[in-house]
Amino acid sequence: MQISTGTSELRDITKMERIGAHSHVHGLGLDDRLEPRANSQGLVGQAKARKAAGMILKMVQEGKIAGRAMLFAGPPSTGKTAIALGMAQSLGPDVPFTMIAASEVFSLSMSKTEALTQAFRRSIGVRIKEETELIEGQVVEIQIDRSLTGATKTGKLTIKTTDMETVYDLGMKMIEALTKEKVLAGDVIAIDKTSGKVTKLGRSFAQSRDYDAMGADTKFVQCPEGEIQKRKEVVHTVSLHEIDVINSRTQGFLALFAGDTGEIKPELRNQINAKVAEWREEGKAEIVPGVLFIDEVHMLDIECFSFLNRALEGDLAPLVIMASNRGMARIRGTKFRSPHGLPMDLLDRVLIVSTKPYSEEDIQQIIQIRCQEEDVQLTADAANVLTSMAMQTTLRYALNLIACSRVIARKRKVEQVDVEDLRRAYSYFMDEKRSVQWLKEQQGSLVF
Ligand code: ATP
Repeated sequence: MQISTGTSELRDITKMERIGAHSHVHGLGLDDRLEPRANSQGLVGQAKARKAAGMILKMVQEGKIAGRAMLFAGPPSTGKTAIALGMAQSLGPDVPFTMIAASEVFSLSMSKTEALTQAFRRSIGVRIKEETELIEGQVVEIQIDRSLTGATKTGKLTIKTTDMETVYDLGMKMIEALTKEKVLAGDVIAIDKTSGKVTKLGRSFAQSRDYDAMGADTKFVQCPEGEIQKRKEVVHTVSLHEIDVINSRTQGFLALFAGDTGEIKPELRNQINAKVAEWREEGKAEIVPGVLFIDEVHMLDIECFSFLNRALEGDLAPLVIMASNRGMARIRGTKFRSPHGLPMDLLDRVLIVSTKPYSEEDIQQIIQIRCQEEDVQLTADAANVLTSMAMQTTLRYALNLIACSRVIARKRKVEQVDVEDLRRAYSYFMDEKRSVQWLKEQQGSLVF
């Protein structure tokens, strides 16, 4: 079986930018000695947890920690997710970071263990070294109907390649590139087999040897047959899951964009593992253990926990970071209660990092950062009121009010949010405590 990595198409999408509630977080805000700065890279306070996260991050970056697990445990809105994302931002672009909410594992389209296996394999990168191959050999003539691309000319092009498969594989992409390069019949061109990039070498071999514009790391050497040859090493990282999907679906890498990855057969995974092991032995690939973040981990059930326990022992395991805001809770699927709803054998192997409620000063600074991020101005009084609202309700509720009160201020045709705007937003949207209170008052008249 030919195992494909589909890397040329994937190179640019290994990391997605995250926006939304945590878009102000750009790292852990630590100095060189891993000491947390008071307010840096979007994070404020929570010094111990950030330092612990930094230590773990360092071990990940040094490749010393895979197959381990840590748990962020603390009350709601105390920055567990924010710190995990700070870790993700600090990892290099090559290190995969996957984030799931435990409840995503329960789906009708695949089993729980399949969903977890996919999440694990998304979090393992394979750094592949490849030599791009350019063409050479006898001249093959192919006919390209340039009207396909909207160009008016049709012509017979001479493509210098021995490998017709390359030509057909690259299909439309190549035609597009040929049109862009304004290639004419008789031109000699080079096709990069990996990326499909077409380069015009000139109209004769003699000219092509002088063609220098292919980048500093490009070398032309004279082959015995008098042909040109170009070799260039390209390194890219794809996840094991991406390799699985590309090789299990007929539409190849497009399956990744369709999002419908479905279940993947264990035999295929075994073949891929064997192939990757082979690449590693040949020095063509190395494994980059990444990070899998499981939010609301108490939502997993006992079967998932037992899967995690076993999977963490596997050769190809990422660092698993979990987060829970539960204290003592029932382990789903059992009648037993346990700290954070995690079974004891799993708890025993995780490093637990706790997050604490914020001080008023921390909250004030977080609100300020969010206002900058959302481009909202608060009057000094409004900033104080919002801080005390956060102290009485939750930080997340207060942060949600920022955008709402801006809309209200704009209705008054002013840019700066004042206390009255906040007050109105507070009256339109209930926080959890008031919502519970309201439900109690309505008891009997509501049907749920
Ligand atoms: P839950 O248990 O409810 O999931 P959590 O502990 O994961 O909560 P977050 O979602 O990380 O809490 O925090 C709530 C909001 O506050 C987010 O918008 C987050 O980015 C922000 N936030 C939390 N802690 C910090 C911090 N230390 N510095 C800056 N922003 C923070």
